[in-house]
Amino acid sequence: MLEYIYSDEQNPTKMVVWDLGRRCNYDCSYCTGWMHSTTAPFNKLDQYKRTADFIDGYYAIYEQFHATKFRPVLSFTGGEPAVNPDFFPLIEYLKEEYPYFVLNLTTNGTWSKRRGQFLLDNMDSITVSYHCEGNDKQRQLVRDNLVWMRERIANKHKLKVNVMMHVDHWEDCIDLIENVLKPNDIKYIPRTIGDDGRNRYEWFEDMDGVMRRTSHKYTDVQMDWIKGHWQHENKKVGDKTELKKSDDGDVRKIGRMCCGGRCMTTKAVDSTKETDTMFIQQSNFKGWNCMVNWFFLHIEEDKDVAYHHQTCMAKTSDTPEVHIGPLLEHVTTFNANRGPICNLSRSDEYLAWLEDKVFREGRPPTMICPNTHCGCGICVAKARTNEDFERLKAKYVT
Ligand code: SF4
Ligand code: SF4
Repeated sequence: MLEYIYSDEQNPTKMVVWDLGRRCNYDCSYCTGWMHSTTAPFNKLDQYKRTADFIDGYYAIYEQFHATKFRPVLSFTGGEPAVNPDFFPLIEYLKEEYPYFVLNLTTNGTWSKRRGQFLLDNMDSITVSYHCEGNDKQRQLVRDNLVWMRERIANKHKLKVNVMMHVDHWEDCIDLIENVLKPNDIKYIPRTIGDDGRNRYEWFEDMDGVMRRTSHKYTDVQMDWIKGHWQHENKKVGDKTELKKSDDGDVRKIGRMCCGGRCMTTKAVDSTKETDTMFIQQSNFKGWNCMVNWFFLHIEEDKDVAYHHQTCMAKTSDTPEVHIGPLLEHVTTFNANRGPICNLSRSDEYLAWLEDKVFREGRPPTMICPNTHCGCGICVAKARTNEDFERLKAKYVT
């Protein structure tokens, strides 16, 4: 049992995940109707500009108190961001108005070479997700684009491929890895489908009437391949690092994918010493103090809402009321301490409220964890007791 966790006090990041809309040119069976749509209208540039101004204003309020100054990373997702014609002028607007933003795109890779050149010229990093359920033409286009981009990208570490390991298209995934990614020295991560904890292995009728399953059950042979991959990666990292233990004493050196393999520092309840680790077994921090809102922001354009964090959704109970539109009415887990922090269409009101709160309380708030499971916010500074938390907070806040 742990007492506290923190990481990266010297090199913190603010991660802004910006879901630009559900519209997509794919219809993957493991992606719900809440996440994508082939017919949803495109969001418009003016709407995006308003959100960009909100992100800037939100960041400016926290930035005054950050002990280490850093540039926020905007990570664009969807749907498929690059399918919207207004995505490209948005990037030009951001480069002009907010050049301090670091720009990252997650895309399915089905763009023209002209658009690809724009992405190369303007993105700080690009993650291509390879989805086997595209048609033959789409999959060949993605393969061609990957090789084309790898030949032109100045820093190979800025291109990464998430290979969505499809149980029914396994050979396609392996072929991509062996015959495209490895020979061209393109960094890749084989992603098992359903590693986000939703665990719907059975087909179900989705909100749009389409049959879907969000998790895949792999055969023994497939599981052996996945384990073999990670054992190999583990060994490569192990040859370079002294970090050897997870918090349960397991020998595991690869960090969690969501935080880029970040090293974390922990202290166990029954120990007097801190331990550096790449992997933490414990995931229930309900009632702990947590700084998640200092390092994350999550935007959902189609739903007109922002959260502190996509999956944890922690918020303070005094957060002003948020209008829940039709695309969120199915969510049953919102409560006083869990849910969106504002509507994007009224984000100026939220910023005014936050500024007033900072004026009254001296600095932005911290969270009390409302969840029994922490997903990708584990690396954020958190502590069980107020005393430890104040000490950790002092590492990040002036
Ligand atoms: S490409 Fe991505 S957003 Fe589009 S349907 Fe597939 S998983 Fe969903
Ligand atoms: S679920 Fe959220 S609030 Fe709870 S510990 Fe994780 S990041 Fe912090």
